[in-house]
Amino acid sequence: MVNVRGVHKSFGRLEVLRGVDLRVAAGSVTVVLGPSGSGKSTLLRAINHLEKLDRGTVTVDGELIGYRRVGGRLHELKEREVLRQRTSLGFVFQNFNLFPHLTVLENLVEAPIGALGRPRAEARARALELLGRVGLADKADAYPRRLSGGQQQRVAIARALALEPKVLLFDEPTSALDPELVGEVLDVIKDLAAAGTTMIVVTHEIGFAREVADTVVFMDDGVVVEQGPPAAVLDHPQHERTRAFLSKVL
Ligand code: ADP
Ligand code: MG
Repeated sequence: MVNVRGVHKSFGRLEVLRGVDLRVAAGSVTVVLGPSGSGKSTLLRAINHLEKLDRGTVTVDGELIGYRRVGGRLHELKEREVLRQRTSLGFVFQNFNLFPHLTVLENLVEAPIGALGRPRAEARARALELLGRVGLADKADAYPRRLSGGQQQRVAIARALALEPKVLLFDEPTSALDPELVGEVLDVIKDLAAAGTTMIVVTHEIGFAREVADTVVFMDDGVVVEQGPPAAVLDHPQHERTRAFLSKVL
């Protein structure tokens, strides 16, 4: 479903992604681990073209993201095309990023109506169904500031799902939450995994990775150091850098 090939990205003289390859199968959950600054967020942002690539390609369901190929060369797509492509990639941020001036329901219907042209009634019905799925059917008319962090993040997940994305990208979805609220958000993500949603999840929650991931990817210094099933990477890491990282977080 997602195919990242040879992706390089620098900010000035700092090379943050130094040739990343990653393949994510449809219906699978990939958990990305790695120290702060290793390039995890930049990789997610590169996948949905919030960052331009210096080299390499990203395809989602066979479609090249952010560029089109003309006679062997890549040309960046127009903003409107990129926005259209992004509707197939749901993004859930560490800090929820809900629209504060909109109610929960309005947060969910905004993009389906604006970006996909769905009729309002249909978008509303779908939004209410999704709020039920994340356990927040009774919060449709609340404003985000009235919700706990865990509830806000569940709304953000429902909002991402409202665009019916092919893939959901999570960037440390529980890092900003009080410890007692982490579980309710991870439970929603686990339900999505059980329903066959394709997901890439950057997180430090090792227990979650062990339970839910099909593949664990360990990144350090802009490269994928190793990847494999959770039992292999977490219990029998092959690389010293993975061992050193795990000894700090386990
Ligand atoms: P991680 O998510 O693994 O903590 P990031 O992808 O956020 O890592 O960042 C990797 C490196 O790239 C860090 O050194 C960070 O400071 C740098 N970086 C990220 N975004 C930018 C940017 N827009 N401009 C300059 N440096 C950046
Ligand atoms: Mg990050």
